[in-house]
Amino acid sequence: MICIFLGAPGSGKGTQAKKVCASLHLTYIGTGEILRENVASGTELGKRVKSILEAGHLVDDDTMIEIIEERIKNEDSFLMDGFPRTVRQAEAIDGLFEKYGKKVDSVIFLDVDAPEVTKRILGRFSCPVCGKDFNVYTDDIKDRRCPADGARLLQRSDDTEETVRERIEEYARKTAPLKEFYEKRNILMNVPGTGSPGEIFERITEALDNKN
Ligand SMILES: [Zn+2]
Repeated sequence: MICIFLGAPGSGKGTQAKKVCASLHLTYIGTGEILRENVASGTELGKRVKSILEAGHLVDDDTMIEIIEERIKNEDSFLMDGFPRTVRQAEAIDGLFEKYGKKVDSVIFLDVDAPEVTKRILGRFSCPVCGKDFNVYTDDIKDRRCPADGARLLQRSDDTEETVRERIEEYARKTAPLKEFYEKRNILMNVPGTGSPGEIFERITEALDNKN
């Protein structure tokens, strides 16, 4: 099975994707991970990625496709998280998969509405002393202090209400055509991303079961 995971920042997509992989024995292919792997490997491609990232640029689509090709050519069952993000990228993925006789079986869209993801992201704090991350809305936190050492928790400086709202709106705008692209093919599954992590996980595996 080949599965693609879509979901806004703060939707819990990454966590759920990894759980699904563990449970269904799929290889997890996350954009962040494969970029780091490539840089660490020191191959020609890895060196190129390193210089792109060090210059503070985003990795371009062609390079990304090259990296994904290396990663997937010998994999039969995997889940992609973080790519594609645009229709152009989805078409490139189709072309690549065709070359290896593969196709996307299902696309999960983890659906969490904008006010909810905004709240989740704005709730993210970390402890300057022990480095642990918390969510002041969902974890048992008193007075925004670390339960282990009592230090005052700090919010990420780029997590302001305005920047978060912009990020989420941008995601929705970019993802809408991509959802439509997979909807037309009848492989998009909209899974509500609210409730406990266990409930969400069940919904996802159920959707994948019904599909296959
Ligand atoms: Zn702490």
